[in-house]
Amino acid sequence: MRAIETQTPGGPAAERALAAEGKAAAEAAASAGDAPASELPLRLLLRFSDAGFERRFVQHYIAFYLRYAQASLLLGALLVSGDWLIDHLAHGGGAANFLRLSLAVPVLLLGLAYSCLPQSRRHWQPAMASFIVAVALCLFFILVRIDAEGGAGLKTWVGVLNFTFLEFYCFVILGVQFRHALASGLMILAAFLYALFAHAGLSAYEAGYWAYHVLTVFILAAGIGWWREFVLRKEFLARAALDDSLLAAEQRALRLAHYDEVTGLPNRRLLGELAAPALARACAGGPACAVLHLEIDRFGGVHELYGHGPSDVMLAGMAQRLRACLRGSALVPEWGLGPVGLAVESDRVLARLGDHAFAVFIAELEGQERASGLAQRLLAAVAEPVQIDGQHMLLTASIGIAMCPGDAQDLLNLTRCAEQTARVAAEAGGAQHKFFDEALNARAKDRVLLESELRQALLSDQLRLHYQPKVDARSARLVGAEALLRWQHPQRGLIPPGLFIPLAEDSGLIAPLTDWVLHTACQSLRRWAGQGLTVLPLSVNLPASSLADAGLPEQLSALVQHYGLQPAWLMLELTETMVMREMATAVAVLDRLRQLGFGLSLDDFGTGYSSLSHLKRLPMSELKIDRAFITDVARGGRDAALASAIITLGRELGLQVVAEGVETQEQAEFLIGRGCSLQQGYWFARPLPPEQFEPMLRAGTCRL
Ligand code: C2E
Ligand code: MG
Ligand code: MG
Repeated sequence: MRAIETQTPGGPAAERALAAEGKAAAEAAASAGDAPASELPLRLLLRFSDAGFERRFVQHYIAFYLRYAQASLLLGALLVSGDWLIDHLAHGGGAANFLRLSLAVPVLLLGLAYSCLPQSRRHWQPAMASFIVAVALCLFFILVRIDAEGGAGLKTWVGVLNFTFLEFYCFVILGVQFRHALASGLMILAAFLYALFAHAGLSAYEAGYWAYHVLTVFILAAGIGWWREFVLRKEFLARAALDDSLLAAEQRALRLAHYDEVTGLPNRRLLGELAAPALARACAGGPACAVLHLEIDRFGGVHELYGHGPSDVMLAGMAQRLRACLRGSALVPEWGLGPVGLAVESDRVLARLGDHAFAVFIAELEGQERASGLAQRLLAAVAEPVQIDGQHMLLTASIGIAMCPGDAQDLLNLTRCAEQTARVAAEAGGAQHKFFDEALNARAKDRVLLESELRQALLSDQLRLHYQPKVDARSARLVGAEALLRWQHPQRGLIPPGLFIPLAEDSGLIAPLTDWVLHTACQSLRRWAGQGLTVLPLSVNLPASSLADAGLPEQLSALVQHYGLQPAWLMLELTETMVMREMATAVAVLDRLRQLGFGLSLDDFGTGYSSLSHLKRLPMSELKIDRAFITDVARGGRDAALASAIITLGRELGLQVVAEGVETQEQAEFLIGRGCSLQQGYWFARPLPPEQFEPMLRAGTCRL
């Protein structure tokens, strides 16, 4: 199996991070156990106590001063040639003088040539010191020979001056040649003193006199060199401290750009860089890749309950677990665990993509089963109990899997497909994984779109209430009406509630939606009352969640008071299933609503299989037989028998029984025959907009 190429993730930026990390690591290793690098002892041979730091300084020095030293060697060659020319012009051609050109200048040029070699930098300091000492000794030898020929050698003040200046010149160079400077200088001095006493033929007094002056120049030159190096080293310390802090800042920025701070896992950007080569291979006909998008189910609740800190700790722990699941493949290291940009031999990358979302990239996938197996392992890891703020919790996750090149060809689209699929898996109950399926995802996408449009609809007046008359079927006289919600969508047209009420219930939009319905229904009642029309009870459908709210009776009471209505004008419709689900709390709320005078209708009766004993406990005023039983009543048979039984039951419980969904005359007549004359359905009138409903209200009948 080929590894994901991570040698240079992040291109130049990551490469720089790698170099910086390497350097920092080398320095850390070098300085381990030593005194801090900044320690600069004030001793004769200046040297940093830290070997790694010393190396850095020398490298830095060479980089800056190599050209200067080369220029000095060239200048030395010119000066020595000048000496030859002057002596040649003054004294004529002596063999000793010519040695300046044939011996000293070649040594200097040799040094220059050496300094140009690429490998010269490695031993540059001792090599340069050796060249300069060699040149000095050559010159000393030449001056002694010039003396022997009777020229201006060491026996004349010109010669001595010449030599001392030469020495001074050497020290200016050697003075910055570090620890070799002093030793080299002492060698030259020793040779010179030896020449003074042994060769120059001077008296001891004269030699001592000259020696004193030469020594003072030596001390001066050595002092300048020493001081120069001391200042250089001090400067270097300050520079290095600045460089290091800049480097640390740059490294941190690089880490933040590539890694998630909470979990230490690669982020989306680094994931993209790591996955790119494997994706390119997959698209070019190579082995397939996959992205597993993992989202922790209902994490929003955990976050709300415990806040940032504990949820972050939990997420970091979860990341460790997921890493452990991918064991067997060396993952990209977390930045807490290893340096950024290390070469990683791995076929999987775990990354954190968002709040509670992780992604696993698998390169060179052998088959879907492998991705499926890994997904199951990840789900099992998430399902183990977690501790958050000292409490044990059980979490689940949903995973969506998308494949390259089948589902998408680049990481952006691949992660998008996987993310949508994870959402589908979450909507299907969570704790499961699913593979990307175009049709499934299109529906999920449509739902998401519709949800955001519904939010907009609430704000931009796209909702409508239609009214369907409830009649006494014997006379077609209106006895009430049901308010039914419609969404007038700018592009999709009129959307029936069945398509968006469940969506609103899932997304929490049902509360503002119900508020709107109640206010609009109350406004209509107020208007009709104001127009002097007979006010008939208006039925309003309540959502399942409303019964869980113990404050509902008081809120509704305040609402009707606000509009100056009587509670009995509102008939609250609740489905049988929702009442049964919340039986314990529902009974208390319903009792209170009845006490306050609201009408209560049990909608869609017969579909919820509720027990009759339960029905007895509910303080209902109306029972609506579901359309499912009405459709076939006229044909007799089972439905007819059931409808008849429900009508009898309702009457015996003292309830007003309404048949809904009456579409034909036969159905209406059958129901009248069974004693159910209150009916609602297309046979009488469809749900109508207010402007069409109000004439019926005015006439008191649906037969206009
Ligand atoms: P529901 O409360 O049982 O309303 C009766 C449904 O049957 C209405 O559908 C109505 O248009 C339809 N209907 C009435 N007569 C006939 C008929 O003769 N034949 C046929 N085929 N259908 C008939 P709609 O308006 O589509 O509403 C569907 C459901 O949506 C309602 O069932 C109700 O549960 C819910 N709903 C409607 N408005 C609201 C609302 O404002 N809030 C809440 N929470 N739910 C609502
Ligand atoms: Mg209803
Ligand atoms: Mg109904």
